Amino acid sequence: MTTALPARAPRLRGARALFTTRTGGVSAAPFDALNLARHVGDDDAAVTANREIVAGTVGLPLVFVDQVHSAQVHVLPAPGPVPVMTADALVTGRDDMALAIMVADCMPVLLSDAEAGVIAAAHAGRPGLLAGVLENTVAAMVQLGARPERIEVAVGPSACGSCYEVPQEMADAAAEQLPSVRSRTSWGTPAIDLRAGAVEALGRSGVRAYSIDLDFPCTIEDPAWFSYRRASTTGRFAGVIRRA
Ligand SMILES: [Zn+2]
Repeated sequence: MTTALPARAPRLRGARALFTTRTGGVSAAPFDALNLARHVGDDDAAVTANREIVAGTVGLPLVFVDQVHSAQVHVLPAPGPVPVMTADALVTGRDDMALAIMVADCMPVLLSDAEAGVIAAAHAGRPGLLAGVLENTVAAMVQLGARPERIEVAVGPSACGSCYEVPQEMADAAAEQLPSVRSRTSWGTPAIDLRAGAVEALGRSGVRAYSIDLDFPCTIEDPAWFSYRRASTTGRFAGVIRRA
């Protein structure tokens, strides 16, 4: 992806992928500057302009979904127009659209099976992760011909297990479903490690741990990204993926 836009571009075979930052857009504070979400209180024209900036960088129209922290996956129909759906993951074999997932602390998870030509983008916060959004995403990819052991994954900038503090009961409930999420904050209180949970959930679906790239900053610690924990009125950045 050729880009003047500040972004992190994970290497996924068969795809071009990026995680946008706060930089490069037109929104005013506290949405400065590359806010991609309409539901957060930002000026709608600014969001439209920001989405066009990202689409221009990616070189294809972006498909967004109305995200509700569910495990619902939307498989893009081929071919034809794409309606805005309520879902928390997008899967396609199409090469004329880029898939976009918005986050600010939740995980933007991008997936690709180069041999099958199937890509996906998922929104995985605590509720969606525990509800099985990643397992459902892999299952939908398999329906289109992907094989779990070939799938490469990037788990983008998100709250880390040393920052994502939760009540003890919430930590216990989460760990009952995904034991690897149990964590402690750097100040010693109960926490959830979403990324460890993603590796465990993807592993249950047959994705190899060595195919999962977790090397991205913590949104709560790094001001280059929007963080809902740091400021509840804020924007959303995106994980974006298209076929190569
Ligand atoms: Zn952190």
